[in-house]
Amino acid sequence: MKVIGITGGIGSGKSTAASIMARHGAKIIDADIISRRLMRKNGKTYTDVVKEFGTQILCENGDINRKALAAIVFKDRERLQKLTDITHRHILPAMLRALVKIKKSGFEGIVVIDAPIPVKQGFLDLVDEVWVVTAPVEARISRIIKRGGISEEEARRRMSMQMSEDEYKDIADRVIANDGSEDELEKILIHISNNLPTK
Ligand code: ATP
Repeated sequence: MKVIGITGGIGSGKSTAASIMARHGAKIIDADIISRRLMRKNGKTYTDVVKEFGTQILCENGDINRKALAAIVFKDRERLQKLTDITHRHILPAMLRALVKIKKSGFEGIVVIDAPIPVKQGFLDLVDEVWVVTAPVEARISRIIKRGGISEEEARRRMSMQMSEDEYKDIADRVIANDGSEDELEKILIHISNNLPTK
């Protein structure tokens, strides 16, 4: 079994890369899905997140309103760090549990961990290789806008709060340039997957 961590900035194409890999037989562990699960009412980070950010981030039914939370943290680096500190403590063990489960099932293919923020120490220990997906800023912005949900201004602000492309590249074993079509991305991924070292 090979474990690949796919990471990169907002709109670079991590999830697209992960779904292409899934179409070719990889198993996916999605940090975003884990983070959502942890924030559900009975989830492990719910209480700490509400304690930190207050009831203003709650919907009427008591669920965490992730949009309201995002609006707060993407305006303030320190608060974003607070949220990261609360969630990462639990995301890493959850990823590890998911990995162990896949391994125990006897799966021998590629497992992709799709993680926007590479939980540095732990993440790098979990994976055999880190693949960083990159794309030109303007392409990322227009893809994010097309995807919908956030404005150009908001997309640029979130980008400025994330690690820079150089910081991502510093931890990369491979840099995947997603600057063409999705078909081209698929070709790159197939080529790399077929040529992974066996050990
Ligand atoms: P986020 O960090 O916001 O979750 P991401 O890195 O996972 O972003 P994706 O969601 O995979 O990025 O891609 C952003 C948008 O760009 C999606 O709507 C996706 O369909 C589109 N996209 C990705 N790659 C390409 C491409 N090569 N050509 C055109 N559109 C693309």
